[in-house]
Amino acid sequence: MYLYNSATHKKEEFKTHTPNHVEMYTCGPTVYHFAHIGNLRSYIMEDVLEKYLRYVGYDVNRVMNITDVGHLTSDADEGEDKMLKGARREHKTVMEIAKFYTDAFFADCKKLNIKRPDVVQPATGLIDDYIKIITKLLDTGYAYIAGGNVYFDTSKLERYYIFNDHNEEDLAVGVREGVEEDTNKRNKNDFVLWFTKSKFEDQALKWDSPWGVGYPGWHIECSAMSNRYLGKTIDIHCGGSDLAFPHHENEIAQSEAANGCKFVNYWLHNGFINIDNKKMSKSLGNFFTVREAAAAYGYDCIRMFMLMSHYRSPLNYSGEILMQAKAALERLRTAKSNLEFFIANGRDGDLSEADAAFAAGLDQYREKFDAVMDDDFNTADAISVIFEMVREINTAVSPAADPSKALAQACLERLLELCDVLGIPFGSDSSEDPEAKAIEEKIAARQAARKAKNWAEADRIRDELKAQGVEVTDMPGGAKWKRV
Ligand code: AMP
Ligand code: ZN
Repeated sequence: MYLYNSATHKKEEFKTHTPNHVEMYTCGPTVYHFAHIGNLRSYIMEDVLEKYLRYVGYDVNRVMNITDVGHLTSDADEGEDKMLKGARREHKTVMEIAKFYTDAFFADCKKLNIKRPDVVQPATGLIDDYIKIITKLLDTGYAYIAGGNVYFDTSKLERYYIFNDHNEEDLAVGVREGVEEDTNKRNKNDFVLWFTKSKFEDQALKWDSPWGVGYPGWHIECSAMSNRYLGKTIDIHCGGSDLAFPHHENEIAQSEAANGCKFVNYWLHNGFINIDNKKMSKSLGNFFTVREAAAAYGYDCIRMFMLMSHYRSPLNYSGEILMQAKAALERLRTAKSNLEFFIANGRDGDLSEADAAFAAGLDQYREKFDAVMDDDFNTADAISVIFEMVREINTAVSPAADPSKALAQACLERLLELCDVLGIPFGSDSSEDPEAKAIEEKIAARQAARKAKNWAEADRIRDELKAQGVEVTDMPGGAKWKRV
């Protein structure tokens, strides 16, 4: 398997630190607002990677932080903490805001078929760990105290700007428009490890420390958490590409300075969800929350929309592309319900020799699927492979082919195996429709009318179902239905 490593700017063969075991760290959400669909791109892509790693036989341990403190809009003291901003907006405490939006985040994840990481740790829960690391950095000369805050001294590093070769001026923290330069810093890229000088007075965001009452900088939480739960060197670290600098750069600086060894072997960064070619972001105000997008298109369609592009490519949020995703999902659902129909109504008996050969032939799609997923988990190509397989299955398991139950079953297993790796949701198929039972009863009544050659009654029931948004297709041996 090859993964594109942002730290070396190339695809590299994936080798784990410990055989068959992957230690994976994900920068989690800042819980001051509902997640927007750009945020969820990161978590969907990480979920697919985790599912694929498990499918090829790795055991995965995944850790995610919840940023509930210290995420400033700038590292300068004048920056605004996002959590405090959220609390002021809603006239609640920071802890109330954190709890509410953490729960909302995981509720969204569940609906998007994203597995919860093995460890989920709020940043406010590990203050002692930050203090230990910061103390070590001060003792070894990598950190200094100025104006009451503790800063990391980037001039002590042998290498910085690992992720890019941008012009230093562009990247320097504190030169963003409207943000005052923090004059305590010795070097412009130095960053705060611990704040004591804060203009914020919220008690919930203050802890005692050897340097005074205050709160941690944003970057330290991820260094401390990955160290505590995954060890000094981890296999994979993920996040959106906006996190590469300065957040991930600074995580590397702190972790490698404190531990004296390599922090991360593979850095994976997803591209942005854009609106009119601009990054979707809360600060620009051009965002759709997952809930807003789901109200229009459904959660399943959002996941499919993400899967249909490669995770590193930019992806434009547009109704047209979402509708394409919906149509693609519908084709898969139709293929699945067709197979289920023949599992119930196809010919009895074991797989014939020809059927067994056909089913074995489907293995080529699994091989193709594995090949494209092994190449930096290209979900867009993986979906194309699934559709190639579906075309072949649809012909072999059709009324004209008079297929056996056993063949339909073998095809369904092949289809679900690949769809499951991508987490393609089949949730709203007929079996989950709240009216499914009543619809099935009407269809049975219609079948009985047809058997009795009472065509008028059969047509009446069909029209009634149509008015309910249900389309019925007669098949040899029965009828199948779908929502239209
Ligand atoms: P935040 O909640 O702001 O800390 O961000 C959570 C995750 O979403 C991070 O991995 C970000 O890099 C990622 N992210 C933010 N905006 C976008 C976007 N428009 N497209 C893709 N990923 C994004
Ligand atoms: Zn992080």
